[in-house]
Amino acid sequence: MTSPVPNDDLIDFVDEPADDEGSALRGNVLPAWVVLVVDDDEEVHQATNFALQNTRLLDRPLELLHAHSAAEARACLEARGGEIAVVLLDVVMETPEAGLDLVAVIRRDLALDELRIILRTGQPGYAPELSVVRDYDINDYKTKSELTHVRLVTTLTAAIRSFEQIRTLAASRRGLDMIVQSAGELFGRRALASFAEGVLTQISALLRLEPEGLICARSGSPFMQNADSSLYVVGAAGRFRNHVSRPLAELGDGEIVQTINRCMAARTSIYEPNATVLFFSGEGGRSAVVYLATERPLESVDRRMLEVFAVNIGVGFENVGLFERLNFYAYFDPLTRLPNRVRLVDDVDQFLVSSADALSHAVALLDLAHFSEVNNALGQRSGDALLMAVARRLRSAFPDSVMLARLVGDSFALFGPARVLSPDALVQIFDAPFYARGHGVPLHVRVGIAPVSRGAGGLLPRASDLLRDAAVALGHAKHERGSRCCHYTREMAAQAQQRMVMLNELRAALDFHRGLTVHYQPQIDARDGALIGAEALLRWRRDDGSMVPPDDFIPLAEYTGLIVEIGAWVFMQACDQLMRWRDAGEERVVMAVNVSALQFRQAGFVEMIRNTLDQTGVPPDRIELEITESVAMEEVDKVVDQLQVLRALGVRIALDDFGCGFSSLSVLTRLPIDRLKVDRSFVSQLTEDNARSGIVQTILRLAQGAGMAAIAEGVETHDQAELLRTLGCSEMQGFLYGRPMPAEEFAIWMRQNRADLEAPIP
Ligand code: C2E
Ligand code: CA
Ligand code: CA
Repeated sequence: MTSPVPNDDLIDFVDEPADDEGSALRGNVLPAWVVLVVDDDEEVHQATNFALQNTRLLDRPLELLHAHSAAEARACLEARGGEIAVVLLDVVMETPEAGLDLVAVIRRDLALDELRIILRTGQPGYAPELSVVRDYDINDYKTKSELTHVRLVTTLTAAIRSFEQIRTLAASRRGLDMIVQSAGELFGRRALASFAEGVLTQISALLRLEPEGLICARSGSPFMQNADSSLYVVGAAGRFRNHVSRPLAELGDGEIVQTINRCMAARTSIYEPNATVLFFSGEGGRSAVVYLATERPLESVDRRMLEVFAVNIGVGFENVGLFERLNFYAYFDPLTRLPNRVRLVDDVDQFLVSSADALSHAVALLDLAHFSEVNNALGQRSGDALLMAVARRLRSAFPDSVMLARLVGDSFALFGPARVLSPDALVQIFDAPFYARGHGVPLHVRVGIAPVSRGAGGLLPRASDLLRDAAVALGHAKHERGSRCCHYTREMAAQAQQRMVMLNELRAALDFHRGLTVHYQPQIDARDGALIGAEALLRWRRDDGSMVPPDDFIPLAEYTGLIVEIGAWVFMQACDQLMRWRDAGEERVVMAVNVSALQFRQAGFVEMIRNTLDQTGVPPDRIELEITESVAMEEVDKVVDQLQVLRALGVRIALDDFGCGFSSLSVLTRLPIDRLKVDRSFVSQLTEDNARSGIVQTILRLAQGAGMAAIAEGVETHDQAELLRTLGCSEMQGFLYGRPMPAEEFAIWMRQNRADLEAPIP
């Protein structure tokens, strides 16, 4: 990862004789070096015992194990191989090669690479081949006659020292592996935790201890919203393992907590009789404390070793800081600095498995209504500023224990106690306008709430289940007029199920040309009542005979993309029908066909229009495509291009439901539009009093100014028609003139209309 750990230095430390402080600790409970003596000659065992009695090597006593055959030795190695430092091995036992065979077993079968092997042989002339010594990593080779006390001690000391070095290297390599691995897990959430674990393992291995301890650091990282300066357990081993990610204060052992705080405050390591508390100073303020339950005082040799590591670990913590910054982008939304979906799911899942009162909690999903229109109208920068304002207001509205995340775009999620996340509280937050770059913008919100409840089998849900349920509830809040907040209920799931059924039926209706028809509603010129056009409106009768209103199934078809196919079918029907009327002499009629946003964006849309026109022979200028503001408000340049391509075909474009969206005027004037349709909600609000100052007047002026025609839809009464005419709008569509009708009925209507027009004025 960074500069390699200076293992050479370590070896020096290990080799250095202990200083005074170290000697003071002599006689302490350091484990003995375990030496296995393998020989078929009992005399050799006794001689070895005698030569080594009361001998201490490198500060530690010796423990001798005895085996009288290769088989016995193998059993012993299998049982205690990990503890054995040196094997004194007779070459010739049951067979002349029994000793060498055992070496192969030790290194290959048992994979005991760390223990040292000293071969002994009775015959002075016998020496194993060099290749054997090398391949099996045999430490030494001595004739039995050389095993005097002095020689034995020198030989064993060298072997044990070598064993100790190898073991230290291996241990630190294991620890390093973990550190390196944690570096590899850059983007993993637990980068810091596994780095910390690596540190603990490494130190414990160096001290020849079972890992038992913890690492604390301050949670306040520069990326968190609320810099919290209290200490957290970032990594732990042994009995402390369950405390990872929790505040140190909750450790439940006041003495340890105190010692750690003392170490942090003094910024220096503390060596206690039963514990070692190391201070690691990372630059940039990321300091850490490692607490190790050593259960014995540390030898000075070990202390010096740790100091070397401290430097490396300090650098490591630095890097972890860097990783965490990268990590930040994986788990946080850079704009609002709130946790993102991944993080929320993680945290909620963690909470659900660990908290006792999960059942009193809930997820609330918030979605800003019409935010993309606002964004397009005001510009990206203002949109961003608004989102940040929303994030701030949401964060300050709830206590820190409530989790808040930005999921995507304009949707936020909260997780906390259900009573805190009440509909009133949530909706109220949006009562006052939000300010973006000096402008106050009212934002409306839709909320879906999913309380935590046990599912089938009594199981608690997972975060992803809750989010899904909340999304279902949110969908309800969006579609149910007037409701801004919905709680998830089982019925909703049932309704979702029903929608699936409906969708399948719709699919079948389309595939088998069954139940789908197109109705036509007349558009007239109110000055003389003449028919000028017809709007094609889709109708669906289910197999059971019930009619499904387009407002129910069209959004569903849009949501699933089925609208692309349906739209193409409607267009074909409308063109066919128009040709039939034309063949019957009705040449004035312009056919208006609705186009949904998804269709309009579809790559093959223009092709579809062109092909259908070619196939049916409809003159393009007899076709008017009705698009909605939401289409027009997406990437304006693309929309303008697309509209221009369509107009080059010769078809006309109308802007439907005008006034309901958030079109900015500058955008509107850029769009190549032939006609504005005044939405029926405005027409229905029209009164004599507001006619001259109201929105309809504004819309009509706007159309005039931009050189567009205008048509009012939803005209139901003569009064409305009259008012519209006084405002200068004479093209109309509505129940007053004719409802949407099946084609045959429409043909009759047309004949009647023509007859009325031609009748002499009484
Ligand atoms: P829209 O495009 O605004 O269509 C006008 C709606 O107003 C039609 O509802 C029509 O029946 C209704 N309407 C017309 N005159 C009056 C009136 O005087 N009073 C009242 N109260 N209502 C009137 P419909 O047919 O239920 O269609 C609803 C919506 O479904 C349409 O709204 C349109 O957005 C969508 N839609 C219908 N057919 C299609 C289609 O083929 N493709 C697409 N993409 N959308 C369609
Ligand atoms: Ca329409
Ligand atoms: Ca409309």
